[in-house]
Amino acid sequence: MKEKGVLTVLSGFSGTGKGTVVKELLRRYDRYALSVSATTRAPREGEVHGREYYFLTAGEFEKMIGEGAFYEYARYVDHYYGTPRTFVEEQLDQGKDVILEIEIQGALEIKRQSPDCLLIFLIPPSAGELKERLAGRGTEDQDVIMARLRRAVDEAEGVEAYDYILENNDLQECVEGLHGLIQSAHSRAKARLGQVKSIQEELKAMVKGD
Ligand code: 5GP
Repeated sequence: MKEKGVLTVLSGFSGTGKGTVVKELLRRYDRYALSVSATTRAPREGEVHGREYYFLTAGEFEKMIGEGAFYEYARYVDHYYGTPRTFVEEQLDQGKDVILEIEIQGALEIKRQSPDCLLIFLIPPSAGELKERLAGRGTEDQDVIMARLRRAVDEAEGVEAYDYILENNDLQECVEGLHGLIQSAHSRAKARLGQVKSIQEELKAMVKGD
């Protein structure tokens, strides 16, 4: 039987570089699949429907909620964000390690439904660095930046529920750190019990009739 993939939720303060880290991880290793979320916020410049997000109207989003099509969904700074369920399940069944790049409410909901998932929280080297990165991106107006900084304060409150905290100072180091954490989850005893049992069965057959 094919080993199932590991489900990883990556969160972190807005502006910590989650997107860049995940993009680099996917570029380096083909064992990963990134879940594309749906959102009701407007696309930023350069964002493409179906690549960064599925950009939906509130009506479309609510219809999907009604159909149970989301693994989880949350409201964040006045918009809906949600993870379509089917893609995640299919990819895990095919043995891909699936990454969800979502905020804390969604992460906790995923952990509730799938206790074996990994929750990883990405942090910047400092608060000042985070503000600079947010302002430097130049895609948000001041009000949105302040709303995100305020929200960041709340996000840190739930961080003890996460399995790992990873600092994004050097991109390459951070990507390798993330890869290492996810790959070690494949060796967790729980994930490998089936393999142990099958070796045990073979051993039993070998010694039978001794
Ligand atoms: P942004 O608008 O900057 O792309 O995303 C805002 C926040 O929403 C980020 O913290 C991002 O991780 C989170 N987010 C993106 N997709 C989802 C999702 O499907 N579910 C939840 N709960 N959060 C999401």
